[in-house]
Amino acid sequence: MSGTSFLLEKPMELLDRLEAGKRLTEQEFEELLAGWEANGLGTGSLGIPQWQAEFSEALRAKADRVRRREYGNAVYIRGLIECSNYCKNDCYYCGIRRSNRNAQRYRLTEKEILSCCQEGYELGFRTFVLQGGEDGYFTDERVTELARMIKSRWPECALTLSIGEKSREAYEAYFQAGVDRYLLRHETADGCHYRHLHPAEMSMENRMRCLWDLKEIGFQTGAGMMVGAPGQTISCLAKDLVFLQELRPEMVGIGPFLPHHDTPFAGEMAGSVELTLDLLAIVRLMLPKVLLPATTALGTAKADGRERGMRCGANVVMPNLSPSSVRSKYSLYDNKLASGSEAAEGLQMLKESMAAAGFQVVVDRGDCKGFGTGHGQ
Ligand code: SAH
Repeated sequence: MSGTSFLLEKPMELLDRLEAGKRLTEQEFEELLAGWEANGLGTGSLGIPQWQAEFSEALRAKADRVRRREYGNAVYIRGLIECSNYCKNDCYYCGIRRSNRNAQRYRLTEKEILSCCQEGYELGFRTFVLQGGEDGYFTDERVTELARMIKSRWPECALTLSIGEKSREAYEAYFQAGVDRYLLRHETADGCHYRHLHPAEMSMENRMRCLWDLKEIGFQTGAGMMVGAPGQTISCLAKDLVFLQELRPEMVGIGPFLPHHDTPFAGEMAGSVELTLDLLAIVRLMLPKVLLPATTALGTAKADGRERGMRCGANVVMPNLSPSSVRSKYSLYDNKLASGSEAAEGLQMLKESMAAAGFQVVVDRGDCKGFGTGHGQ
């Protein structure tokens, strides 16, 4: 037996356990990612050890098989409407943080949001995602009213919100108004890393509380993290995986960290696309029915990032439905894609590039086939 295959034995066995629905410990998740450590989480000049490269290939092939088994070659599309870039928070990584005086702020009117939905519906979108900064203008009353309007005009469509941390009562009101899904990345499950990424007035406990509330209320819930965010270690990522394993979210958003020039992290290195792909694959094995987007950040970091994401277990893409006049203003990180196949009107292009990679864009709400709500499921 060669040295390399000997080194592969243990992590391959861990993958089999993951695929069989068994839980892994934090330390075991660390073992799956250990080869990335020496190389600065995939950003160093050393390259990763041979065993990790071989392992990644096996891992990604397994994830591809599991996605095929659960969802075939379907690509679910979500129309992303970036409704406001006003934000009361000051996350160090984010280009629309409140301290960024250079951000040109905008907020879509209700009418504009509805016409984005109309345009999206005509293009074949059956899920609308309203995402934005934490903007005080969008009170719970305004949000619920808007949700009711959207759900009554397009009753067969799923509505997803991604507007940050709210009270349990607010989430309950959104759910009552017909909102189906809620995306709130946990960002990091390591307390120390959380402090490195956020100012003192924010807390990881509240973020987690929100996620458990969302699950309990009955939303299809999305969590997730950035890969290669400043201060992140393999141990942070292992904690993220343990958290996802406990929460069992229906959706998981994972993309590489990309620096924004007007943030405290302007000079930091971007996260690794390759490590992101491995994490997508691990999540697919851990949560076989999960809805897993090949994110805009992945497509921004590498030209074929989204197609590669699909081959590593992803099954969702979220083209931009926002009016083109505001797209460049929702600038979370530098060079964020918002045109071409990343744009809703570029859907034909997306269909073609996905078809070339062996996938088919479908007109479907694409609900999560499985899971349940509440703790420990
Ligand atoms: N205010 C909402 C939406 C945030 S934007 C909320 O708090 O959930 C959506 C996601 O973009 C964030 O959760 C974060 O993970 C990601 N993001 C923000 N800045 C980023 C950056 N510089 N690089 C990569 N992803 C980033």
